[in-house]
Amino acid sequence: MDTASSTSQLNPAPLENILIVGAGFAGSVIARELADHGGYNVTVIDQRDHIAGNCYDPRDQATGVRVHHYGPHIFHTSDQHIVDYLSRFTEWIPYQHEVQARVDGVGDVPLPINIDTINAVYGQSLESPEETKAFLAEMAIPKDHEKSARDVAEGTFGKHLTELFFARYTKKMWDLDLDQLPASVLRRLPIRYDQSTGYFNDTFQAMPKNGYHSLFTNMLDHPHISVQLQTAFDKKYEEAYHHIFNSMPIDVYFDECYGPLPYRSIQFETSEDPGVIDQQVPTVNFTDEGPHTRITRWDLYPGCAPEDGSSSTLSTKERPCDYVDNHFERYYPVKTVDGAPQQRYQQYADLAKDLKHMTFIGRCGQYRYFDMHQVVANSRNIAQNFLNLRTAQ
Ligand code: UDP
Repeated sequence: MDTASSTSQLNPAPLENILIVGAGFAGSVIARELADHGGYNVTVIDQRDHIAGNCYDPRDQATGVRVHHYGPHIFHTSDQHIVDYLSRFTEWIPYQHEVQARVDGVGDVPLPINIDTINAVYGQSLESPEETKAFLAEMAIPKDHEKSARDVAEGTFGKHLTELFFARYTKKMWDLDLDQLPASVLRRLPIRYDQSTGYFNDTFQAMPKNGYHSLFTNMLDHPHISVQLQTAFDKKYEEAYHHIFNSMPIDVYFDECYGPLPYRSIQFETSEDPGVIDQQVPTVNFTDEGPHTRITRWDLYPGCAPEDGSSSTLSTKERPCDYVDNHFERYYPVKTVDGAPQQRYQQYADLAKDLKHMTFIGRCGQYRYFDMHQVVANSRNIAQNFLNLRTAQ
């Protein structure tokens, strides 16, 4: 054994102390990546009293029904690397998400709009994708560009279906008219001309077998990760850690010096008897002018019904609002056609470039409307870039 290696074994390099703010996907993935790599002591703090961020899904104590505390989270991705990565921490129950839209005078119809939706709304008997395309082509209003959600919706479905399925829903969800909402937000919904009813097109769609909380418990279960709940970020921590990965709202970190970034929030109203009768699918969207956007009946999701086989049900209605009206709970970064919120975000991101000891992560840190699989991919990239830089130093 040469002297150099025996010295390094006796005095291993000290571990770097890393702070991660937020125990949702953004923070937990980075925590695990760094811990698995070695060389880091990772502390994860969260101001809430639980891990799993907005995926938190405990079973309701009274009924045994698993409820997604912050609204329905259906996992979907076409990236097999993400599936393989998360499969280290959970088994899955395959699940193709289905949604119906409740339309006054018509009933519950498939959403995304498909051949059956059109037949129900217009009393047609279209039989093939070709007939559906031809029928919609008659109603579509061709657009020179697809900048706004209205361009996409009217360019595909025409005025009537646009008003019925998208205009009112979007108004209550975002407090924006379709002309103000960027096309990309509406493009989250696929367009269907046949009878298929899936809400997503991804190759992998599933729910974690024992819930998201269990997935996060396994992800954070590592000798070099410690978790402190009910602990909010404080700037005093900046002295104590070599690097901080921060999922707090970036505008809040900078004391909103350029003004607050807009966010939408959701008030969740959960009850055993929400007064809504009969639903064929777990989630039904409301297209009317009432305050709610959708209702989810949890026991219809795989893995969420009571384990004792009882027939208890629980449903949650969602009522969107400004985050200021919901205890400053920021769920959805707002995008507008004029790009104003993103420009303001960019001002904060420019300030953050000077903070060499801090990386902003996740939906609120990067002000991006991420799905779960996108956060996982994004955080894995951030962790890898950090590790590459450290190796290069
Ligand atoms: N949308 C709509 N009507 C619906 C469902 C969705 O107008 O019945 C629009 C709305 O603007 C919404 C966007 O499409 O915000 C994206 O919908 P998605 O279901 O992906 O939203 P999320 O599940 O993230 O709330």
